Amino acid sequence: MPLVNMKDMLAHAYGHGYAVGAFDVVSLDFVEGVMTAAERSRAPVILSLAESRFEHYDFELLMSAVGAAARRSPVPVALHLDHGTNMESAVRAIRFGCNGVMVDTSHMTLGENLAATRAVVEMAHACGVPVEGELGYVPGVEGEDAERHPGPLAYTTVAEAKGFVERTGVDFLAVSIGTVHGRLKGKANLDFPRLRSINQALGIPLAIHGGTGLDDDQFRRLIAKGVAKINYYTALTDAAGAAICARVKSAPGAGYAALVRDVSAAISTEAERCMRVWGSAGRAAEVMSHCRPWGPVEHLILHNVVGISEKEAAVMIAEGQQVLGAIPGVREVVTGRAVKEGAQYRYCWLVRFAAPEVIDSYREHPAHVLFANQRFRPVAEGRISIDYALEGA
Ligand SMILES: [Zn+2]
Repeated sequence: MPLVNMKDMLAHAYGHGYAVGAFDVVSLDFVEGVMTAAERSRAPVILSLAESRFEHYDFELLMSAVGAAARRSPVPVALHLDHGTNMESAVRAIRFGCNGVMVDTSHMTLGENLAATRAVVEMAHACGVPVEGELGYVPGVEGEDAERHPGPLAYTTVAEAKGFVERTGVDFLAVSIGTVHGRLKGKANLDFPRLRSINQALGIPLAIHGGTGLDDDQFRRLIAKGVAKINYYTALTDAAGAAICARVKSAPGAGYAALVRDVSAAISTEAERCMRVWGSAGRAAEVMSHCRPWGPVEHLILHNVVGISEKEAAVMIAEGQQVLGAIPGVREVVTGRAVKEGAQYRYCWLVRFAAPEVIDSYREHPAHVLFANQRFRPVAEGRISIDYALEGA
């Protein structure tokens, strides 16, 4: 199961002077292209899903594919929510299988950004999930010309960054030191002394957004000054677009499947080039041995009911599915009834937790306490409840 703890993964990169690519994926072609690159270069990799693009694809569906790609991969993978805007989207991302989340409330005032980020960190850490915050403002829109950015760049300052990390508890910080999202005209002017000072003050893995258009030397200097995660999308989407345009020219009138035939390979070539420049290539085995594996826990409950009818039991169970399914860190709640009449336990619940940390946070969550005490325990007889670490899930 090559899904690994993302905090461990980036700690390894930070400690060993390389950066892991966090590639935004928007379709199966992107997932396949990035994973092929990672497997070919033996690199740890982060598959990233950006909230700003959820209007273009179904987040839940793509997460199923991304999760499957990670599980069958021979290289270590982490799954990340990119630019989550609020608590609800962070909770949802963890439910769908992300094991890292970014909360980007950097457009707010410093005080608001602090409070919003802090709240997401508390929730996510209770699920075992690390959090990336952003301070300062990296302008622009991924995949578009950088000139179209909606606001001026705001540099991250050392003093603010130190206070922000201490007070929010974020595990990684996205810093603004001169990059912009999207396509650049000319060369980015990066503030390396500022980055060095931020790194010295914080001592945690730093993230750079807007990696497209930087040259190899700029990447190496960023990594030498604490950057352990590089977000990368625009160059991939440009490579995909160019592959489609080439097919339009060479095979006019071709259908969809023929037009996108070379997309995955084009993405793969560009992603692999990055993995080699950023030093993540060849690190897969080391990362695997240094990182805790990431896997779900199945909270299994078997019981009978007393004092209520089957119909009332069904109502109680439906209520439980809804209430318990909404608790952060719960991936799904499935219930069932014994197939055979004389079974020792008539009812079962399979509550899947994102990670072992959820065993405690779920038990203590007010919604669980209320449901368990008022609705479930008074009628559930002879309960058995055991948590299992799942393998191959
Ligand atoms: Zn970004």
